[in-house]
Amino acid sequence: MSITARLLGSAVSHWGDDPWAGGSWSLIGRHGTPQDRITLGTPVGDRLRIAGEATHPTRAGMTHGAYEQGLAAATWAINLGHRRVAVIGAGMAGLAASRALTDSGLAAPIWEARDRIGGRTAGADVAGGAFDLGANWLQQYDANILARLAEHLGLTTIPTDFTDPLVLPSRPGLSLGDDSSPGGGPASGGDLSAGGDLDGELRKRLAGAAEGASVADVLDTWLRDPGPWTAAEVRRFVDAEIVMDTGVPLSWLSARHGFEPGVGEGDRWIVGGYRLLTTHLAAGLDIRLQSPVQHVRVNPGGVVLTCGVVTGHADAVIVTAPVPVLAADTITFEPPLPDSHRLALSHLCAGRVEKVILRFDERFWPEHGYYRVHGPSDTCISEWLDATAADGLPTLVGLFAGPWLDTLWTGPDPDIAARATAIIRAATT
Ligand SMILES: Cc1cc2nc3c(=O)[nH]c(=O)nc-3n(C[C@H](O)[C@H](O)[C@H](O)COP(=O)(O)OP(=O)(O)OC[C@H]3O[C@@H](n4cnc5c(N)ncnc54)[C@H](O)[C@@H]3O)c2cc1C
Repeated sequence: MSITARLLGSAVSHWGDDPWAGGSWSLIGRHGTPQDRITLGTPVGDRLRIAGEATHPTRAGMTHGAYEQGLAAATWAINLGHRRVAVIGAGMAGLAASRALTDSGLAAPIWEARDRIGGRTAGADVAGGAFDLGANWLQQYDANILARLAEHLGLTTIPTDFTDPLVLPSRPGLSLGDDSSPGGGPASGGDLSAGGDLDGELRKRLAGAAEGASVADVLDTWLRDPGPWTAAEVRRFVDAEIVMDTGVPLSWLSARHGFEPGVGEGDRWIVGGYRLLTTHLAAGLDIRLQSPVQHVRVNPGGVVLTCGVVTGHADAVIVTAPVPVLAADTITFEPPLPDSHRLALSHLCAGRVEKVILRFDERFWPEHGYYRVHGPSDTCISEWLDATAADGLPTLVGLFAGPWLDTLWTGPDPDIAARATAIIRAATT
């Protein structure tokens, strides 16, 4: 395998520091239950409703869940006879809501804080190709309403088998920042769950945990008596399955409710990226970019939005800002959100999963759709999508979470990309 491959271009995400996201996707904490999602999405009177991925009881954290909640909020507003409905946020939920309202003949302006649409779907142009820095896959493909839209639009989608990653041990002694690692032997694969049904055991232990217990509580008990596995095997499996899937401290995450469905149900990624869906949905909508809403006042006769010196008036408002944005009171409400909604918010948060897109002039990794890299230390796991099929140029999309981020996600983006490159080179050459 080549050790001379040149990095042609890269892009790096920063969801954790993004003031309009505050993390990657919503999760249920140890004191929460799925009921918190339902409560958060319950209309506040006849003029205010929170939508967005966090309010979906069974498809939270995913684009199609967000889309469905946007549609549900639009239907709610239409059924109440509103004529003008303000929408906060031009992510998947806001676009779905405004699209449905507009198509039904209502006025549905979107107020969007950023200078772009898409929210936590975000395209990046790297070395001549378009890739996703946010949502990547259409998950739960058969039951995914956005998958039907992608099919309708004739988009090319490529399956990823998350149950069959090529597992690559990173070479010990790897020095981060070193992007010129000399070649070693060929990458060796391996089955993370070798020696028993670790996945089944993990799920059984989580399902059997007490309300209020965290994943860390379950793990502590398990590690004291790891059964047929070594403690290191259990730890690595939990890191790969849960830390990579949530990006949140395990001591915060609900054991019973924190590991929600989604990944591994027929996932397919979109060639050209999610922007092919969002630009289609946004066509012809009234979208005001760079318009962060600071205040929402609900009066008996309508709703008033404040964005700097600009005010907007509507019959009702649909709020799709993510959980961390709402929890930080970035938008203040008058009257304040009910205690029920505030309590629900306090039980949810967003973890941090970051991505890097790397494009090379030569392939130096084995052909496989999805990779998992262990190391250099035990708690460091990264996952990699081979996205070369997009246009033939060798491309990797790396996902990082957990302790890795403290080490890797510092300094300028090219430095982060170089460190990520060193990790995948060390694992594959
Ligand atoms: C790295 C990463 C990978 C992911 N992978 C997948 C995946 O593979 N598949 C999948 O289905 N999902 C994935 N997700 C999750 C998915 O992106 C989200 O669930 C979904 O996009 C959320 O849509 P939303 O409309 O609820 O929220 P958002 O997309 O966050 O939209 C909310 C919008 O509100 C705006 N906003 C916030 N505050 C204000 C304000 N005060 N005024 C005006 N506007 C405001 C924001 O700028 C944003 O545009 C991923 C997310 C990340 C970050």
